[in-house]
Amino acid sequence: MKFVNRLFFVVLVIFTVLTYSSVAFSIDYSERRKQLINEINKDILLTYFSTKRQQFDPRVMEVLGKVPRHLFVPKALQESAYKNRPLPIGYGQTISQPYIVALMTDLLETKKDASVLEIGTGSGYQAAVLAELVKSVFTIEIIEPLEKKASSRLKTLGYDNVTVKLADGYYGWEQHAPFDGIIVTAAANHIPPPLVKQLKPGGRMVIPVGGHFFTQNLTLVVKSEDGTVKTYQILPVAFVPFTRGH
Ligand code: SAH
Repeated sequence: MKFVNRLFFVVLVIFTVLTYSSVAFSIDYSERRKQLINEINKDILLTYFSTKRQQFDPRVMEVLGKVPRHLFVPKALQESAYKNRPLPIGYGQTISQPYIVALMTDLLETKKDASVLEIGTGSGYQAAVLAELVKSVFTIEIIEPLEKKASSRLKTLGYDNVTVKLADGYYGWEQHAPFDGIIVTAAANHIPPPLVKQLKPGGRMVIPVGGHFFTQNLTLVVKSEDGTVKTYQILPVAFVPFTRGH
């Protein structure tokens, strides 16, 4: 009887160890991405009143279901990478909420052969999402350690159509202009004129506009073929501030 008890105890210990180690080592991230897509779809319906979008481009949703967001956040937060919320990435900055990434990407209405400029590389996640959809992505970050980390991360993950630069994005990237799309992922108190200038006729820019202490307006800027510029306010949002270089 004693032997049976001991055997039972040993089997129980082995079972517990195996269960816990499999939980720790084999998180099914692709399943989590699927759940995230469901969450984003719910948010799309909840925000329909403002955005007038009942669904996003299936290409955008497919990419969100594919890009490994957990590899763009600090190790300690990897488990939370597929919650539909922003997460800290250090230096007081955040990786945007996945729904917002999806919305901004959808608003750009990118085409496969497009060239897109991003201001605010941060973790590099938004750049990776764009890289899956367009020909080339140029992205500017003002905080050096973030620029370095995002640059090497994107290289390691094989996103070789993304070019990262350390600079104040206010002035855009003249050398590669004009762009089919421009996406600004930090809150600016006005739309930087150099960015409007670097937008192609027929191009679109998405930018949160407003002060730092309250919510901003996610704004869509559309430049028509004849160069006329129109802006549309899409949704109240909360972004980290657009800072200026010295
Ligand atoms: N797109 C990022 C999230 C960006 S958070 C991602 O997918 O992770 C906003 C980023 O904008 C921060 O990293 C911040 O340092 C950067 N930023 C703020 N002002 C900037 C400026 N003037 N030029 C370039 N980057 C800027």
